[in-house]
Order: sequence, then C-alpha cells, then structure tokens
Amino acid sequence: MSLSLDKLLEAGCQADTEHKVCRTRGGESCAFDGAAIVLMPIADAAHVVHGPIVCAGNAWEGRGVHSTTGDFHRRGFTSDVGELDIVYGGEKRLAATIREVVACEHPCAVFVYATCVTGLIGEDLDTVCRDLSAELQLPVVPVHAPGFVGPKNLGNRIAGEVLLEHVIGTAEPDVTTPFDIALIGEYNVAGDLDVVEPLLRECGFRVLSHVTGNARFEEIRYAHRAKLSVMVCSRALINVAAGLRKQWGIPSVEVSFFGATEIARSLRAIALALEATSPEAAVAGLRERVESVIARHEGDLKARLTPYTVLHGQRAVLYSGGVKSWSMASALTDLGVEILAVGTKKSSVQDEEKVRLVLGNDARLIEDISPATIRRLFAEEGATLLVAGGRNRYLAAKEGWPFVDVNQERETAYAGYEGLVNLACDLSASVRFYERQRLDISLPGMREPAVVRAEERAGTIDALKNAPSLGAALALQGVDRAIPVLHAAQGCTFLGKVLALRHFNDPISFGTTALFTEDVVMGSDEAALRTLRSLDAASHPELVALISGGLSEVKGEDVDALVRDLDRELSACVVAVHAPDYVGGLEEGYLAAVRALITLAEEPTSGSKVAPWLVTVLAGPHLSPGDVNELRDIVESFGLEAVIVPDLSALDGSREGLSALASGGVTVRRLRELATSAHTLVIGASLEPAARDLHERFATPYTVLDAVGLRGTDALLAQLSLISGGHIAPRYERDRRVLVDAMRDAHLRISGKRIALALEPDHAAGLAAILDEMAAAPRYAVVPTKAPVTSRIQAREVIVGDFASVPHDIDLLVAGSHGRRTARVLGVPHFETGFPRFEVFGASRQMTVTYRGATAVVDAIANLLGPAHPIHYERSTS
Ligand code: SF4
Repeated sequence: MSLSLDKLLEAGCQADTEHKVCRTRGGESCAFDGAAIVLMPIADAAHVVHGPIVCAGNAWEGRGVHSTTGDFHRRGFTSDVGELDIVYGGEKRLAATIREVVACEHPCAVFVYATCVTGLIGEDLDTVCRDLSAELQLPVVPVHAPGFVGPKNLGNRIAGEVLLEHVIGTAEPDVTTPFDIALIGEYNVAGDLDVVEPLLRECGFRVLSHVTGNARFEEIRYAHRAKLSVMVCSRALINVAAGLRKQWGIPSVEVSFFGATEIARSLRAIALALEATSPEAAVAGLRERVESVIARHEGDLKARLTPYTVLHGQRAVLYSGGVKSWSMASALTDLGVEILAVGTKKSSVQDEEKVRLVLGNDARLIEDISPATIRRLFAEEGATLLVAGGRNRYLAAKEGWPFVDVNQERETAYAGYEGLVNLACDLSASVRFYERQRLDISLPGMREPAVVRAEERAGTIDALKNAPSLGAALALQGVDRAIPVLHAAQGCTFLGKVLALRHFNDPISFGTTALFTEDVVMGSDEAALRTLRSLDAASHPELVALISGGLSEVKGEDVDALVRDLDRELSACVVAVHAPDYVGGLEEGYLAAVRALITLAEEPTSGSKVAPWLVTVLAGPHLSPGDVNELRDIVESFGLEAVIVPDLSALDGSREGLSALASGGVTVRRLRELATSAHTLVIGASLEPAARDLHERFATPYTVLDAVGLRGTDALLAQLSLISGGHIAPRYERDRRVLVDAMRDAHLRISGKRIALALEPDHAAGLAAILDEMAAAPRYAVVPTKAPVTSRIQAREVIVGDFASVPHDIDLLVAGSHGRRTARVLGVPHFETGFPRFEVFGASRQMTVTYRGATAVVDAIANLLGPAHPIHYERSTS
C-alpha cells in the first residue's frame, strides 16, 4: 500500500491549504498514534505494533474507549524489536509475533502498525502481512503510519485509507434496511456512543457499521451497504466518507451529539438525509418520530438540569482538541455557560467558522492558547471555568480553577442528552468544589447543623456499636506494662480480645476475673483479688486497670473500694475503670479508661515547673497506630515533646517479644508527670472531658482538634506553632500541596456521590470533614451512640442506629468490616475503616489524620467509586 500526502489531501482537508493536512504546531502525538486511535477500537481484531517497546508501551490503554465487542483495544501486542532486529531485519520477528498472537488469542483479524524505527529501516510490512494472511487464513492488514510522517491527524487519515483499501467492501451484511447508517469518527470515548446509540435506535436509525467505536471487524467490511455516512468527529475520517461517496455513492452528513441544540440538529439532519435516499424511509415517518424523540428528551432535560443552575453565568475558556470546539461551545451554551474565549490551536478553518456560527461573529478565538494566555484570562478577564483536554488538567489543578476534561482521556460520556446532564453535573461539581476550597469552611455558622435522629427500633440489627468495656481495654493497650482486666464472666474478654487481635494483628493484653455462677451469687471480690494478685506475682505489671463491665456494675460491686485495697497491697498500681456495657459504646469506655489514667497524675510539688516543651496529646479511639505515629512526628517537628495518652503506636507492629502485658506506649511515670505539660491537645472530641479534668486539676490549657483534612491539619499546625513559637516544617507544606492536588484530581469522582458513614462518632466526624472539603459531605452518618460531636458531623442526616439503619440510596458505604454484608446487600462499594477492620490488612497503618491521612482517604474513596458516571450498556445485536 502506498499513501501520499496528495492522496490524503484529495480526500480531505483541502480548505486548510496553508498547513496541508491539518494544522499542527507540536505538542501532540504522532501518525502512528493517530492511526491507532482510529483502528484500535475494533476490539475483536488484534493490533500488533511493529517497533521497539516505546510505541506500544507508551500508547497502551492511553484512551478511555469502551467496547462490548472484545478487549483487544486494551491489549498491548508488539514485536518489541531489539538491536539485532534493526541490524538484520525484524520481519521474521514480526511474523513470529503475529503467529503467536493469532494462536493464543484467536482474533478475527490483525492490524500491523509500522513505527518510526521499522519504517526507517524499510521493513516490508506489506509482504509479511500478505504472507501471514494466506498462511493464517484471516485478514492481516498493514498500517503504514510511522510517527515521523506527520501528526496524529495524518495518522487518522491513513487509518481511514487502510479501512477503505483493505476492509470496507470485503463482505456483505445478512440484511439491510432503508435506515442503515455508517457512524464514522465516533470512537466511543468514555462511552459516548453507549449513550448516543440508544437515542439513534429510538429515532428508528440502525447503525449498520460503527467506524470504529465499539466495532466488530466484520461490520466495517460491509460499511459500503449503509444508506448514509454520518460523520461524527468532524473531519478526522472525512476521507472514509469521501471514499464511500466516490466508490458506492453513499451521501454523508456531519453531526455532533454534544449539547441539546446540536443533538436535535443532528437527528433531524440524519432523518432528512435518509428520507432523501429511499422512498421507504420517506414513508416511514422518520422526521415525525425524530421530532417526538427530541420533544420528549428536551422536556426531561429541563427538569434534569435544574440542580445545575450554578453554571448560569460562569465564564468558560474552551480549548478542546478531539471534541471539536464548536460542538462543545454549543453544549456549554445550552447549559447557560458564557464562552469567554475559544482556543483554536487545534481547530481547522471550518471549525473556526462553525464556532462563529454558534457564538456569533464576536466570538473570541485565540490561536496562542498557551498557559500564560489562559492565566491572563482568569486573572484579568474574569474567566471562571476551564473546559479543555487532559493536558490542561494540571494547569487548572495547580491554579485552582474549576476544570472539566472533554478530550479523550476523560472518564465520562458527555455526548447525547445523558452526557449533557453528566457534563452539567461535573462542571457544577468542579465549580462548587473550588468555591468550597476558597471559603474558610471552619468558620462557625457557615453550615447548617446536621439533622440528628435516633432510629426507633426495639432491637439492634447488625450492631454498629462496640462494647464500652472493649473501648476501655483498647485504651490500656497504649500504656507500657499495663493490663486491663475485665471484671466479668470470661466470654466478654475472650471475644473482645479476638476482635481486637483481628483488628490490630498484634498481641493484645486483656485479662479477666472470669466470674462464674458462685461469684455472681456470693460476691465477686474474691475472684478479682485472686486474679489481680496472681497477675501481679506472675507478670509484674506496672498498671492494672480493673474494668467493671455490665455484670459487676449491675451487681453493684464496690469496685472502687476493691481497687483502693488492691492498689495498697500490690506492687502494681491499680485503677478502676467504670465501663458498664449498657451505657454508651466504645468511645465512652475508652474515655472512662483515659480519665482513669489521668488520675495517676500527681499534684505538682512546690519546686516542680511546667515544661514549655511538653504537650499532652489525648489520642482518641478512632486513631490508628499509624495516626498516632504521625501526630508524634508533627509535634516533634516543632521541637516539642508529646506525651501521648494513650499511645497506641505501640500496636504498629514494631514491638518484639510476647507478653501478657501491653508493651510500649506511654509509661506510668509519664502519666504521673502530666501536671508538667504546658498544653493538652485533644484529638477527637470524645476525649474532651479528660482534658477538662487536667485543666481543673492543673490549669493546663487545652485545645480540641480533629487534625483531619486541610482545615483540621491547618488548625493543628497553627496551634503547635503557637505553643512552640516555631515554624511549620517544609515537609508539611509539601504534604498540604499533595493533598490539595489529590483532592483536585479526585473531586469529580467523589463530588455528588451519596456516601454513608457507619462509624464511631469521632471517626465519622473526621471523615465527614474530609469529604465536606471535597464538596461531597456525606448524605448520611450512622453512629452507634449520641455523642456531643454528633450534631457537628458534616453530614446531611445523622442517624443514631445500627447497620440496618444505613439508608439504601447510597453509592458508597464507609464502615468497619462488619459493614461488608450491608454494602454487599446494597450493591455498593465498601471503604473499610474504623473498628473493627479485619477483612483487609493494614488497619494499624491506615491513616486518616493530617494531610497525609486525608490524601490516603481521598485516593482510596476515589478508586472505589470509579468514574463519575459509569455506563451500563449492551450492544445492539443488529
Ligand atoms: S513518534 Fe515514532 S517512535 Fe515515537 S511513538 Fe510515534 S511511532 Fe513510535
């Protein structure tokens, strides 16, 4: 096959005579890529790239085209030529590659792409393909579009010529109808075709041949039997339409499916053209049918676009490549967006004329659409929105401009009526997200308080709540050489210990007085004395916390008196923790244990002084060991020393040896010296009463923080800077930039999603704050108990309930492992966090606090949610 520029020009872009084929000023891909863009959507044919790894390796899965006909468009077949192939020739290697691909993968055809290196050394692709075609008895088609011959647009044309020369006209369809069209230049990027084709079917048109989005090889072979060529992507494949007209007399129309105005115009144009081609089409009432389809969809559209009025009056800079500027300008105008300027660097002369037709002669067309120009349009001319290709995503993210990618890298279909709603949704989500980032959302009065309601049910279905006694036992894991002993029957301890072991994947210290019937009847003091004495003798703990659970509290045992006696008698220090399992949940028990630990703090002596570098950090139960380590690092970065109470970093997996006691964590000696701390930082509002205890006893000032997300971490750093008089370390400024970047990258996936949190209150408050900063405040937060923080959770509705209280209208559930079943029943993804978390590894390392924790949360949730508007589509069997 030989292709010359003259031939391509003859078939195509004569209008742009100055720049020949299509204008390019650099910054775009090569002819090889352009050819692959056109041909690779044929997903039941294999695509073998003949060249070194760079071509296939760099291009593989570069475009988000969808297909239901196969998956070869997502595969990476290449001859991967090496040095010896270049010296001695790579044709044998190519032939072997094709044989192997056919033997292993059974494609119905093979396209073979020349690239720069193999084009340069003069590989004879035509002969290899001809021989292999005869040998393998299937079409093996050469594609001569090495990158050096020109830009992507030229590659598009070359691919069109390949189809005309080797594929179209080589088979006949089983049946034809007067309504058959060949859809040319629609590649099904992000599923555009998936939303447009049902619309075409509604109108009575049949897509006989997709060229090439969602195509089977076979259907392209009989494209010459279509009654009409419908060119979608303007002029990229104009040579195919021209060839069909020249060889088979098929007329063509040029359409766009972006925006209601263009959709209506296009559907009418197709109906009119089909009616002109055959009398049957004329009597079938196509035009009436089209009018009723348009009327119905436009009627629906009005209501569906109502939530997006924030777009009215936004001023967009539009710079699109693959999707033509004029069609996107029309779509934006339909949404009430004003077009401030249109970048025309990649537009043909005809495209520019069409932009003027859509926007009027005053339309501002800018050829030099450099980042500096775009910056000026935002800084000086009031642009508020950038609608462009993926390459400008990073400019927008760094500058903080609302942005939507409308080119081939996008994830969401924007064509058709469905796509227009998607576009409105994404644009407004981006506008709202950046508005939120500009506002100081921590200001009081900025938001409505959440509606809180308690689930009115007799029992609990799939309990979200965890036992207060377990909460108390968890707190004791953060005290060196301590052991919590639950004064109850032994089952609570056994089961609680197993749950905690599964969560932390680390040894858990948890003893029991193992009450039996006789203890319950006769009195349980003896059992407690026996247990604690034996523990003291055998394990030499520094601290024993006797936790009175439900049984001993109901019995009315005088645990305090017992503890006082034991404290005097044993070498270990003994404290009582009242955590009756019928009052509150895990947070309440944890708080009770922390308050008990604080009672160990000794009154300052006359000579003792407050140490200005010492900060007590009361670390809430929602913090993982990884979170605690991060908090310590931050405090120390200001030259301060953190006394973390309790210090659950002990459970980060780093400790060695096995002991019945907790190992690592804050020491009893440190707890005794708490009066010398200059400040108390409370991370998690549930621990505020413990900070008040310290304040009342030692006048230690305290600050309650959540330390999550942008504002929460900003507040933590500001407070530490105030306490220490020091500066924020550059690494945290960097972490902040990384978080902002992650939020901007992910905002379209998360914005507008209906998320439900089912977590302990502090954890729910923290994650809701992160999501709120993404302008995606959760729709629901289900919490097990009504805590003081409940009404401050940034969710639309806070429900005090259990997993059965999780509403059904959600897209994602954020909960511990017990939420897995609920997520499965609701058919939604599940982000596992909170307690317990045993279905996935890494609970100890999972972070939510500080910029780093928020970044990890944003990434994980965005990955689980996937593209903003996934499409479920079944291909027509016609
Ligand atoms: S320019 Fe040449 S070497 Fe680079 S990807 Fe394109 S074909 Fe391959």
